[in-house]
Amino acid sequence: MLGQMMNFPLTISSLIDHAARFHGDTSIVSVNTGGGVEDTTWGQVGANARRLGDALLGLGLEPQARCATIAWNNRRHLEIYFGVSGAGLVCHTINPRLFPEQLVYIINHAEDRVLFIDRTFIPLVKAIRDKLPGVEHIVLMEGRDEAAAAEIEGLKFYDELIADGAPDFTWPEFDENTASSLCYTSGTTGNPKGVLYSHRSTVLHSFASNLNDCIGFSAMDVVLPVVPMFHVNAWGTPYACAMVGARMVLPGPGLDGPSLVGLIDTYRVGIALGVPTIWLGLLGEAQKSGSKLESLTRTVVGGSACPPSMITAFREEYGVETIHAWGMTEMSPLGSSNQPLAKHMDLPLVEQHALRENQGRPPWGVDLKIVDADGVELPRDGVAQGNLMVRGHWILDSYFLSTRDETLTDDWFHTGDVATLDADGYLSIKDRSKDIIKSGGEWISSVDLENIAIAHPALADAAVIGARHEKWDERPVLVAVAAEGQDPSEAEVLSIFEGRIAKWQVPDRVVFTDVLPRNATGKVLKRNLRESFGDVLIG
Ligand code: AMP
Repeated sequence: MLGQMMNFPLTISSLIDHAARFHGDTSIVSVNTGGGVEDTTWGQVGANARRLGDALLGLGLEPQARCATIAWNNRRHLEIYFGVSGAGLVCHTINPRLFPEQLVYIINHAEDRVLFIDRTFIPLVKAIRDKLPGVEHIVLMEGRDEAAAAEIEGLKFYDELIADGAPDFTWPEFDENTASSLCYTSGTTGNPKGVLYSHRSTVLHSFASNLNDCIGFSAMDVVLPVVPMFHVNAWGTPYACAMVGARMVLPGPGLDGPSLVGLIDTYRVGIALGVPTIWLGLLGEAQKSGSKLESLTRTVVGGSACPPSMITAFREEYGVETIHAWGMTEMSPLGSSNQPLAKHMDLPLVEQHALRENQGRPPWGVDLKIVDADGVELPRDGVAQGNLMVRGHWILDSYFLSTRDETLTDDWFHTGDVATLDADGYLSIKDRSKDIIKSGGEWISSVDLENIAIAHPALADAAVIGARHEKWDERPVLVAVAAEGQDPSEAEVLSIFEGRIAKWQVPDRVVFTDVLPRNATGKVLKRNLRESFGDVLIG
């Protein structure tokens, strides 16, 4: 017997319809790429999304045609998210920080037909235009501009394009498992791989993010996604905010400390999301300018490990709670977030604070386990370290245009992360499996060492790599960037590890460098560091 309830497909168009209908006058603030700030509403975004959907189908695009974006977080990008997917096309967000060859590869691999770009990226696109034979329409996300038109042949203009579309366009109907959006991983080896999300996975992911125990956006919130809309759909923030009608502040191209502090203070931002390096800039600026970040109550930090010293600074200096979250492009991306349990409230404050440092526990919809090298499940005791495996409703089954066999084992996806897991599901990420330091048969977590090192007042940045060692195979080496005006000695830096970890885990050496190499999403390129410093302990 089947249940006798209504059955509507879970679609992205239903999210924007809800926001436009029931939160129509709720404000969306957007920093324009060319300067200036505009204040619009979910109602306007909804109407423009429909106009865009209509206009795109008017171009003759077939269902699921890929429409790509190379753009900052702004109002038009938000409309593209909903208009493209709502119309049954696939919204493919591209990271502009990739190398031009990778951009060419991705655009051709995805078979993008339309390319929406912000003004910043005109030179980039102009330089690769003749290598993109499949791209039929390039659309500048602005009104008509003759100077821009002269740069790229046939350039279209967003405002003109949507002017041809109907604001009461009817969204097409389709199966909820239809592809909605596409992101490529920022893989450091080989070509990037495509992750093709569905309407269903996106809606379920939004529900999960909106649980109080996950991120929990609400109609009362002013949300600042600093995480780019080209990085796993800004962690799904636009969809989750539409679902509850949260106010949004879209920061445009300026992601520096002063711009962010200005936005937070001017628009009374309550919750902001981004990677740790962004918050380093923000905290530095807040300190310099004397801003107390008064409106800010929560930050969501993920993408790489959030150093405990940052969580402490947010809490003690600004009264801001940090929600440390973990995930991957392959997971839409949310896999876990650090929220307390009722039983923790009886613990002394220091212990409660310590429990907020790791990557947290999974929401409903994500299952986690750790396994050893042979695939045997390890205990959830908070001690055993193993390869982290995941499964769930918004987790990749197979990469775009490939078959499932290569990614899954018994329906579990290999994250490539090494972690501990405790009985309550709290996850502590120790490393990417290829970065963990194997010293004389023991594993040393580079993340643990980095978390300690970064708290050193004389350091601005720090990464730990396994350097080759004649006796122990590998030993940890700390690659450090001195803070402005500081010139610490190796011994001064190493003193920070005293009493905090076992002696055998303390790095053998500190090497100084000017800046750490990072990939397009801000992750440190350990492979490059190993190439530069991997032999410092030999000979
Ligand atoms: P990406 O697909 O680019 O978002 O990268 C996903 C990878 O980033 C994960 O597999 C982790 O290695 C790393 N990562 C993401 N969030 C965290 C976190 N909170 N702590 C440690 N590593 C993280």
